[in-house]
Amino acid sequence: MLSVIIPAYNEEQNVALAAKTLSELFKSENIPYEIIFIDDGSKDKTYLEICKAAQADENVKGISFSRNFGKESAIFAGLEESCGSCAVIFDCDLQFPPQKIIEMYKLWKDGYEVVEGVKSDRGGGSFMYNLFAKSFYRIISRFVGVDMQSTSDFKLIDRKVMDALLSLPERNTFFRALSFWSGFNSTQVEFKVEKRANGKSKWNLIKLTKYAVSNITSFTTAPLQAVTVIGIVLLCFMAVLAVQTLVRYICGFSAEGFTTVILLLLLIGGSLMMALGVIGYYIARIYEEVKGRPRYIISKRVGKK
Ligand code: UDP
Ligand code: MG
Repeated sequence: MLSVIIPAYNEEQNVALAAKTLSELFKSENIPYEIIFIDDGSKDKTYLEICKAAQADENVKGISFSRNFGKESAIFAGLEESCGSCAVIFDCDLQFPPQKIIEMYKLWKDGYEVVEGVKSDRGGGSFMYNLFAKSFYRIISRFVGVDMQSTSDFKLIDRKVMDALLSLPERNTFFRALSFWSGFNSTQVEFKVEKRANGKSKWNLIKLTKYAVSNITSFTTAPLQAVTVIGIVLLCFMAVLAVQTLVRYICGFSAEGFTTVILLLLLIGGSLMMALGVIGYYIARIYEEVKGRPRYIISKRVGKK
């Protein structure tokens, strides 16, 4: 059976459409399926729509979070709930072409354990957004060792991969990179990002920045190493200045150079603060992980278990 995992946050207009499109598709292709909606603490009637969809089709089920826990948590909740021997992550706004799921499913049948959906282009987005997304992916790609530039959450993964991901004890996950990290026999399917079916994107610059920072820190300790590198560079710089200052002192010009003092103070103060911030962020991460709170809390569920 194929499980389709659909995180939905304020998607009341799209739930019915997504459920209908997918079930018609799978029925016509004779693929046994289940559709799992995860209502990520929506403030609109998303859950009501999920209940309706579950009534109309017994293959649809849904869970509802007690509040908004984010798409990552929703994906993991979906993986936890799914009974299929493979699962696809799908966006509720139908930005991923449903037809591609069939293609992925066939590749899975051929023995691939991870089928990555790769964007052939980034669907719209402002200039700033694209610039931001590009630099974020460049950083992540370096540390995962795979080009993440055009990856998406649109993937099909085998039961083995699902179980491997679910067994990870960490709370702060980055699904998109984890499927690469996990290894397994993988292949790619290209797709074109469609326009959103209804409603607005749930992301804004602040949410995206948080998401980027949280994903970078959950995947790499490079910022910590960067702190060391900055420290070394500054030390070299200061060594040069120290020599210059001493030479000037010996030559009797020591009263000058007040500007240098101010600049140095600012530079050192600033970089120390920044370094502390970076280290603090990682400590916060450790603190969060150590607390071991659940990734999400389920408040309601509908459909067969
Ligand atoms: N989503 C979610 N929780 C959130 C934000 C988004 O479950 O906090 C879901 C959303 O309902 C959608 C998917 O994640 O199904 C992708 O979100 P969106 O379309 O807003 O992002 P974009 O396509 O613009 O990257
Ligand atoms: Mg979208």
